[in-house]
Amino acid sequence: MNSDSSTVARLSKAGKRYAAVLALDGIDLDVRRGEVLALLGPNGAGKTTAISLLVGLQQPDSGNATLFDAAPQSLAARRRIGAMLQATSLPETLTVGELIELFRSYYARPRTVADIVALAGVGDLLGRLYAKLSGGQQRRAQFALALCGHAELLFLDEPTTGLDIDARETMWRAIRRLVGEGCAVVLTTHYLEEAEALADRVVVIAHGRVVAAGSVGEIRARVAQKRIRCVSALAGDAIASWPDVRSVTRDGDRIEIVTDAAEVVVRRLLGEDATLSELEVRRAGLAEAFVEITSEAQKEAA
Ligand code: ATP
Repeated sequence: MNSDSSTVARLSKAGKRYAAVLALDGIDLDVRRGEVLALLGPNGAGKTTAISLLVGLQQPDSGNATLFDAAPQSLAARRRIGAMLQATSLPETLTVGELIELFRSYYARPRTVADIVALAGVGDLLGRLYAKLSGGQQRRAQFALALCGHAELLFLDEPTTGLDIDARETMWRAIRRLVGEGCAVVLTTHYLEEAEALADRVVVIAHGRVVAAGSVGEIRARVAQKRIRCVSALAGDAIASWPDVRSVTRDGDRIEIVTDAAEVVVRRLLGEDATLSELEVRRAGLAEAFVEITSEAQKEAA
C-alpha cells in the first residue's frame, strides 16, 4: 500500500452497496496522525458506512480500506483504535465501572481508571448498571469505553447527540486533550458548530461521494455568501429584489441580508438610506457552506 507515515487510516476508491442502495461510491479518504477529521453529510450520505469499513466491521465491495497500513480486521491494528459507534451492544448486567475494567483488560497498556473517569466525566456513573442509564448517560459511558486503550485513532460517530451542554463541553475538552497527546479523531456530527470548534479538516460526503474537503476555513471560502446586518428603514421586499440578494429577514428595525455580492449590496444600501447604522458584514459560516455544497450535490445527483 502506497501510504506515507502520517496516514493512520485510508479508504481508496472504496465502494459499498446494500442491495439497491449504493452507500459508498468509490470514495477516497485519508486520516492523518493527530488531526481531528470531521465527516459531514446529510442523513444517509454514507458516513457510518465509511467508519464501519475503517474499523473493520464491514468490508468494501470494491477498493480498499486500511488501518495503520494493515487490514482493519487485524487485531494489531484494532488495538490501536478506540470507537464510539451508533449501534453498540454491551452486556446488560454490568455496571459502568465493570465495563471499564472489562474494556481495559483488552489492552496491553490501558489508560488508568482515574484518567478515563476524569476525561469522560463518568465518576457519577461508575456504580450504575449500563442498561438502566439514560440515552445521554449511555453515550458518556460509551465515550469512556472508547478511551480505555490509549488509542492513537478514535472514531466518534455522532458522539454528542443527546448530550446536555455540560456533558458536551466535557467531551469537547477531552477530545482536545487527546489530540494534544497526538491522537487522531474521526468525528461525524450533524452539529456544524461542533465541527467548526474541533476539526482541523472537514470532509463533506453526499450520496456516497466526497463532495468537498479542506479546512473549515477552506470549506467556508468555497461559498461566496456573506451575511449583512444593519439597522435600516428600507423595505425588505425591495432589497430582496436586488441582484445577488439571496434572502432578507427583518426583525423590528434590524435587517439581515444574505448575498453573494456583499460590496455591491453595501454600496447600494448606503446610497439609498442615509440613516443606515450598525452595519456589519460576516463571511458565511460552515452551516451556510454545508447547505450550499450539499444542495449542489443533490442537484447533480438528480
Ligand atoms: P446518518 O447521518 O443518518 O447517520 P450516514 O451518513 O451515517 O447517515 P449510512 O448509515 O452510512 O449514512 O447509510 C448510507 C446508506 O446506506 C443509507 O441509504 C442507508 O439507508 C443505507 N444503509 C446503511 N446500512 C444499511 C444496512 N445494514 N442495510 C441496508 N441499507 C443500509
